[in-house]
Amino acid sequence: MDKIENKSTEKKPSLNFLEQIVENDLKNGINDGRLLTRFPPEPNGYLHIGHAKSICLNFGLAEKYGGKTNLRFDDTNPTKESTEYVNAIMEDVRWLGFQWQEPVLYASDYFDKLYELAVYLIKKSKAYVCHMSAEEISTGRGTPQTPGKESAWRNTSVEQNLREFEKMRIGEYKEGERVLRAKIDMASPNMWMRDPVMYRIMFAHHHRTDNKWCIYPMYDWAHGQSDYIEGITHSICTLEFVPHRQLYDWFLENLDIKGTRPRQYEFARLNLTYTVMSKRKLLQLVEEKYVDGWDDPRMPTVSGLRRRGYTPASIRTFADRVGVAKRENMIDVSLLEFCIREDLNKNAPRAMVVLNPVKLIIDNYPENQQEKLPAIINPEDAESKKRMVPFSREIYIEREDFMEDPPKKFFRLAPGAEVRLKYAYIIRCDSVIKDEQGNTSEIHCTYFPDTKSGMQSNRKVKGTLHWVNIDTAVEIEVKLYDRLFSVPEPENVDEGQDFKDFINADSLKMVKGYGEPFINEFFPGKGFQFERLGYFSADKESAPGNLIFNRTVTLRDSWAKENRG
Ligand code: ATP
Ligand code: MG
Repeated sequence: MDKIENKSTEKKPSLNFLEQIVENDLKNGINDGRLLTRFPPEPNGYLHIGHAKSICLNFGLAEKYGGKTNLRFDDTNPTKESTEYVNAIMEDVRWLGFQWQEPVLYASDYFDKLYELAVYLIKKSKAYVCHMSAEEISTGRGTPQTPGKESAWRNTSVEQNLREFEKMRIGEYKEGERVLRAKIDMASPNMWMRDPVMYRIMFAHHHRTDNKWCIYPMYDWAHGQSDYIEGITHSICTLEFVPHRQLYDWFLENLDIKGTRPRQYEFARLNLTYTVMSKRKLLQLVEEKYVDGWDDPRMPTVSGLRRRGYTPASIRTFADRVGVAKRENMIDVSLLEFCIREDLNKNAPRAMVVLNPVKLIIDNYPENQQEKLPAIINPEDAESKKRMVPFSREIYIEREDFMEDPPKKFFRLAPGAEVRLKYAYIIRCDSVIKDEQGNTSEIHCTYFPDTKSGMQSNRKVKGTLHWVNIDTAVEIEVKLYDRLFSVPEPENVDEGQDFKDFINADSLKMVKGYGEPFINEFFPGKGFQFERLGYFSADKESAPGNLIFNRTVTLRDSWAKENRG
């Protein structure tokens, strides 16, 4: 597997291979100059960042070349699917900033048509009803090295097969008693061509067709035909479908499709370090309560990333930087973090918050006095407005910013040392008071009025601290997230081990904090920077009087040093 390191500084090639194909097709008038892609999720879970990659690719191609994209739910497996998932998927696609061609489509829209097409193949003697069990079919398929065994029902008459298929449809057989199989080639070197199953019996309620059907098309049968029915021109999927392509082509060929057919192109799925990406595994994390639902901010789901404070723009940029590869690869999750950091650095307002407070008293600052000091909301934005930060005699600073007995290069606060309070004054530490346990409970300082921020002063200091005025402090709850897994490839573990053995026990830390009044203006989903601490976003459950913030990402890549030396 290729390892792709953080590629953020690399120059991008001008066109990826899919763009080249589309450009060529459009230039040569293939499909009458039409471009129609699709995104075909199965509604059996929430979308993850891998799906987001596929969404950006399919919708992005159509956007770039004036085409359209269908959203089609591949709802052929009723026992695992639900409208909850359908709705969540639509919300996520919209949130990413894409609009599908109306209406929303479902493979189940084509159940009648697919049935008709199956009958057509039976009539051509290209499909037959088989009585073998799933297990017998599986062993009968042989191995890639040895040919499979032909089913005893392979050469039954068309009339008998039509009758049998009808009986399957009206519920005369139990689950597993019959299947419809394509009649292709039991000796094909491609296992997918060895008389694959097209329909199976399932007495299951379907979220859209209710109990109308008790036979359901297999994905491989439904998928290619759905593309064809919709007139998809470029059917883009991930590499594991390469061997299926021959089967899809066989179906279209034997259905005597006239005119242009959808063409399938494959690209490498997105894999991310420190992340599991399969919906089955994500569902386990949810059901076994390792996380707090599909939108837990530690989940790689689109809804989790949204709740964590990721922006649609950052995810689209990420998808773009990842590029479109033809070989399996592993992307460093720090590239994703880089993209959100870059976005928030440019766009997020700043605020001061203290997460591990210690009280600091400025002894020479008049009691009962308060000033409001101007602070720029976003230094990266030339037109940024200012916010007013209250300042008075008693403030909080971070406990880590004070050391009683500091090492040599400690430029923060220590007895006798001077530092600047951001947007305010230079102060000097004169003394400390300790509690019974010996912890610092108060730091006493002197401030220098002529060092007010923006004024000329000869006093120079090396350190600048953030702080929060105690009187006006807003109490908040902060959730500090770390990676959910402690190993780079949790999906690639040794025999006998499970991805859940590698869950990071410290992936969530909750702390109380204090913020300047400005943070009251933040609403769920809005990201910003707590100065010197990182990027944070108000949680969906945050409300006035009960402010909850999620750490979206740290200010710097704190893992870079540890992991890459
Ligand atoms: P999973 O394996 O996570 O369960 P899936 O492939 O079964 O995913 P689908 O709902 O069938 O999920 O996927 C919808 C579309 O998203 C498909 O076209 C699939 O190729 C694409 N897709 C899924 N996972 C990834 C990924 N990691 N990277 C890129 N595209 C993906
Ligand atoms: Mg799938």
